[in-house]
Amino acid sequence: MKSVIQVENLTKKYKNKKAVDDLSFEVYEGEILGLLGPNGSGKSTTINCILSLLNFDEGIIKVLGCEMSPNAYEIKRQIGVVFQDVAVFDELNVYDNIDYFCGLYIKDKLKRKKCIMDAIHLVGLEEFTKYYPKQLSGGLLRRLNIACGIAHQPKIIILDEPTVAVDPQSRNNILDGIQKLRKKGATIIYTTHYMEEVEILCDRVIILDKGKILAVGTTDELKELVNIEEKVTVEIMDLKKDILNEIKNFPHVDSLTYQNPILSITYKKGANNLVNLMDYLKKESIPYTKIYSERPTLNDVFLELTGKDLRD
Ligand code: ADP
Repeated sequence: MKSVIQVENLTKKYKNKKAVDDLSFEVYEGEILGLLGPNGSGKSTTINCILSLLNFDEGIIKVLGCEMSPNAYEIKRQIGVVFQDVAVFDELNVYDNIDYFCGLYIKDKLKRKKCIMDAIHLVGLEEFTKYYPKQLSGGLLRRLNIACGIAHQPKIIILDEPTVAVDPQSRNNILDGIQKLRKKGATIIYTTHYMEEVEILCDRVIILDKGKILAVGTTDELKELVNIEEKVTVEIMDLKKDILNEIKNFPHVDSLTYQNPILSITYKKGANNLVNLMDYLKKESIPYTKIYSERPTLNDVFLELTGKDLRD
């Protein structure tokens, strides 16, 4: 696999506090790499260092084989960046905004027009090309922001929490657009604290906490790190203690919690746990309203590695 970004031993301090602490990782051509971590874990700092927007204390960063520096313009034009904060011109409509940003890189008018139309289709803004930013909802504005960042069809795209506080329709649209960009061959770094998005989108994930890498791998590889194979949840009223104790002693049970009416059980191994539990409840004539089984999530991985919830 060809590596397009190499970060080696990156450390960035604010005063004496390390926002990023001896970070090393690579990004491979054509992948979507998720940088996942709670707020304050160092995601934005890492991105800003990669882009040479921030000076750092130690380490080396190479993009497309060359060391990054603030005036590495040839490399910078190969990178499309979309920050959380929307940065568009209020006095330009949707089309003209995209035209402006795309025009910074692509001078040929015909070629640019095609790029702009591609970007508009990608984020689904076809009906809004004549609208001004003030006339757009928050979600549509974020889509415009993305279109402005990627219209010049860069090789590398960096998206910093693009779906924070976005309505579900725009969120789906954005996730869909990102998958299309990957299909077209872009390499993407995606920062988020939403593990569900990482599960849908990312080929590989880096879990960050307090400026350090806790784990790297595909979502399946990361889930191998946890002891849990299956989680079963049952909605069941007023369970007695002796019944709970009996369930706790079932094969493979790792942990059991009961907060009336939700019973949650984690199992170390997978086979037949749900069926066994249902058989038992039937035999004991205990009624339940809902029962389902899940694989562990990346939040469980994070919980196991750090003892705290990703969403905190
Ligand atoms: P994330 O993007 O994961 O939310 P950040 O990279 O923004 O995390 O922040 C990492 C750490 O660096 C946090 O502890 C944050 O408070 C600190 N930090 C970020 N920017 C600054 C700054 N300009 N001055 C001082 N501390 C900062």
